[in-house]
Amino acid sequence: MANNKTFTMLKPDSVEKGNIGAILEKITSSGFRIVAMKLTQLTTADAEAFYEIHKDRPFFADLVTYMTRGPIVAAILEKDNAVEDFRTLIGATNPAEAAEGTIRNMFADSISENAVHGSDSDENAAIEGAFHFSGREMF
Ligand code: UDP
Ligand code: MG
Repeated sequence: MANNKTFTMLKPDSVEKGNIGAILEKITSSGFRIVAMKLTQLTTADAEAFYEIHKDRPFFADLVTYMTRGPIVAAILEKDNAVEDFRTLIGATNPAEAAEGTIRNMFADSISENAVHGSDSDENAAIEGAFHFSGREMF
């Protein structure tokens, strides 16, 4: 899909470990254009809303604690076939299963602290992007 957009977060572990620059380099050198970007922090209500689909899963409380414990980098990325290609670039949810050279293979510690988020559909990319950015912040 031409000029397709996806939404990403560099999660708190990536910011804490000083990996913002290295991960952004990987993203831009893979052909993604940064349309919008900010350093921000999720509130508990934000994280609960963002991950609502997982609210009945056993890891939900830990996920909310992790995602709110420090700043994240939120960004909208554009590329042909962005949603699917970005999921390929980040690799499997569990870094132990993520392909060599993927962002989670290179930068994630565990299935819970897995460095980055990537939208799983065009519909969710639009919802997640609009959650963080107004039209004036998108370029
Ligand atoms: N997660 C977790 N334990 C699990 C599965 C997921 O802590 O067994 C966390 C992890 O941070 C993951 C997020 O919940 O990125 C959302 O899970 P999902 O299955 O949507 O994975 P993703 O789409 O991020 O690959
Ligand atoms: Mg998901």
